[in-house]
Amino acid sequence: MIRASPLPWQSDDWRKILKSAIRDGAELLRRLDIERDDIFVPDDIFVPDGSFVPDGTRVPREFSVLVPRTLLQRMEHGNPDDPLLRQVLSTTDELVNPPEFVLDPLSERTQSPLPGLLHKYHGRVLLTLTGACPVHCRYCFRRHFSYPTHVDEVRRQALEYVARDESISEVILSGGDPLMLSDAQLAAVLEGIARIDHVRRVRIHTRFPIAIPQRVTKELAAMLARREQKPVVVIHANHPNELDGDVALALDALHRAGCQLLNQSVLLAGVNEDPDVLVELSERLFDLHVLPYYLHLLDRVHGAAHFDVPESRASQIHAELKRRLPGYLVPRLVRESPGGDAKTELPASLV
Ligand code: SF4
Repeated sequence: MIRASPLPWQSDDWRKILKSAIRDGAELLRRLDIERDDIFVPDDIFVPDGSFVPDGTRVPREFSVLVPRTLLQRMEHGNPDDPLLRQVLSTTDELVNPPEFVLDPLSERTQSPLPGLLHKYHGRVLLTLTGACPVHCRYCFRRHFSYPTHVDEVRRQALEYVARDESISEVILSGGDPLMLSDAQLAAVLEGIARIDHVRRVRIHTRFPIAIPQRVTKELAAMLARREQKPVVVIHANHPNELDGDVALALDALHRAGCQLLNQSVLLAGVNEDPDVLVELSERLFDLHVLPYYLHLLDRVHGAAHFDVPESRASQIHAELKRRLPGYLVPRLVRESPGGDAKTELPASLV
C-alpha cells in the first residue's frame, strides 16, 4: 500500500528542499551510515572553473554531488550498493574513461541553431531553458553541456525560430529540468508555444516528480489543468524504489491535470540491469498512471563508463521484459547516436 503525505504542499516547499540538498559525497555517505571513504570522489577534485584534474578528467563544479533529502530518504542505510545511491554518488569510477566516452556523446553542440535550442529530429525541437536540476544523475549525457543563462531572451528567440518553421509540430522542454523554472516562467513558455498554430504538442521532460515531488504543487497542477494544449509529461525513473507515496501523489496530480504521463529509464549497470527490477518498475509505473516509454542504453559520456551495459545483455533483458509483460508495459529499447535522425531501436535479442 502506497502511503502519501498530506496535501497541500506549500508552493515554496520544493525550493527549501532543493536549498538544503546534500552537495558533498562524504556528507551523503555519513547520512547513510556508510563508511567507505575510498569510493567517492572528494569535492576538492571538482575544480571551480571546470578545468582539468591531473589525469585529464574534466569535471565541472556545477556537476558535483546534488541529492535532495526527499531522494535520500528512499535509500537504504548502510548499503553502499543501494540502487538510488549508485545513481547519485560520484565515485572514483568516474575517473576511468575509455576513449569512446566523450564530453558531448550526441554531438549536440553541432545541432544547436540557437543557444538553448536543439533541432535534432524532423518535426521536433528541444528547448533547454535551464541547466539546473533537482538532482545530479552521474550518468547524465548532458553533464558537460553549456546551457544558456538568459531564459527570457532564449525563449523569445527559440519561439521565433519555431514559428518560422512550419515542419515543427512538437516542442520538447528539456534541460536541465524545465520545472526549475517558476510557474510564471513555465506558463509564459507554454503560452508562447500555444500561440504557434503548427505546434500540435508540447512535452515536458522532468525528473522533479521523482527527485522532489513537492514541485508538483496545487498551483502548478492548476496551471497545467487550465491549458487547452495539455503537455505530455515524461518522467525519469530507473528503479521501483524511486516510487514512494509522495511520488504517487505528484503523479496523480499531474494525471488529474490532464497530462499524459510517460517514463523513460536508462539501463544502468549496478542499478537496474535486472529483468525483475524492470518488470516491477513497469508494473508500479502503470499503477501510478505512467506508461513505460523508453529504456535507453547509456549515452557514452565522459565519467559514466562504469554504468555501461553491453548491448547483448540489454537485448536479453528486453526479451525477458517482452516475455513477462503485456506489450503496453514494455519500454522500447533504444540507443541515440550522434547525428542520427531518430533513435535506433534494438532487436529483442542479439544472442
Ligand atoms: S535530472 Fe535529467 S538532466 Fe538533470 S542530471 Fe539527471 S538526467 Fe541529467
